[in-house]
Amino acid sequence: MSKLSIRDLDLQGKHVFMRVDFNVPLAPGGKEITSDKRIKASLPSIQYALEHGAALILASHLGRPKGKPNAEMSLAPVAERLSSLLGKPVAFAPDCVGSAVEAMLPKPGEVLLLENLRFHGEEEKNDPGFSKQLAALCDVYVNDAFGSAHRAHASTAGMIAYVKQAAAGLLMDKELEYLSKVTTNPERPCIAILGGAKVSDKIEVIQNLMPVVDRLLIGGAMAYTFLRARGEATGKSLVEEDKIELAQELMAASGDKLLLPVDHVVAAEFKAGAESQVVDTIPGDKMALDIGPQTIAAYEAVIAGARTIIWNGPMGVFEMPPFDKGTVALAKAVAASGAVSVVGGGDSEKAIKSAGVADKISHISTGGGASLEFLGGTELPGVAALSGK
Ligand code: AMP
Repeated sequence: MSKLSIRDLDLQGKHVFMRVDFNVPLAPGGKEITSDKRIKASLPSIQYALEHGAALILASHLGRPKGKPNAEMSLAPVAERLSSLLGKPVAFAPDCVGSAVEAMLPKPGEVLLLENLRFHGEEEKNDPGFSKQLAALCDVYVNDAFGSAHRAHASTAGMIAYVKQAAAGLLMDKELEYLSKVTTNPERPCIAILGGAKVSDKIEVIQNLMPVVDRLLIGGAMAYTFLRARGEATGKSLVEEDKIELAQELMAASGDKLLLPVDHVVAAEFKAGAESQVVDTIPGDKMALDIGPQTIAAYEAVIAGARTIIWNGPMGVFEMPPFDKGTVALAKAVAASGAVSVVGGGDSEKAIKSAGVADKISHISTGGGASLEFLGGTELPGVAALSGK
């Protein structure tokens, strides 16, 4: 990586400001954490910093409090959970800037978690004054919040102008390593599997990956905009009418790289357990909710031969059995391929987990939006701002 890593820093005795992604899901009321996956994801960086003598200041956003304090989006429950995960006290500051925080700054080996950055509207506005206040708390800056790296906010970008050194944390490093590995000189054949709801969300990804990959397998609702663009019947399936022309252009530019479903699981209603059938041509009164068995077999064959696989988005309405079959089958095929595989996006991750193959995937990205923007070729502001090696 061309950016400085936490491993390159001398942390001994320094106040280290670490931007983490503790945007955890909370049960209604905001007191109970329903998944601590994101806290655990930054434990390696936190432990590394403490082992190397840092006085550690942790900062994150949580939810969308719209620039005002909101007790239901406090990071207080996170301080408690982090403390039990680390097996040591984690002090909690009632704010993220100001004299109360300055009075609580940690000593080497200690941890202070700041209150939700987004309780200040200046965070999302990337306000220079607020950025300076955050920067004044520390000697060095570390960004481990890959999930927020596509946002140019005060804590992810702005404050870096006011610190001497800004490095990537271990999680950030790992995300960038894998995403770079699969997009720059990947082992071939390199394929991408793209699904999900909309073509419009993934246009940049398709355009950016097309020259990189040998095959692009399309599934999910976005497949039907492409099929319509090819003049096929799509019945009541989701089609983005205003993207049909673009889909035609993308297909023309892709040569034989782009593969579309050849059969479909259709139903008359959008509901779990709806009566379904497999068809080659979608009837006018039905909607396609999953890829069919012939498509699964064709995609499995491509996946089995791949050495590098990039996957974003489910092949069907995988939350609603029986329309999860295509996504689950491909998750298993990716796992069995032995290829370097990178999966991004919350839905693809859920599908991988429900197929029980998470441990066979090389890397599951913690940032859906950030990984999509990376794959779309956008330089992430939170990465661009870090110091060079
Ligand atoms: P995305 O967030 O773009 O990855 O889209 C994920 C969503 O796309 C999931 O909620 C799926 O249920 C939905 N989806 C996938 N395939 C279909 C389909 N054929 N019809 C309707 N929705 C779909």
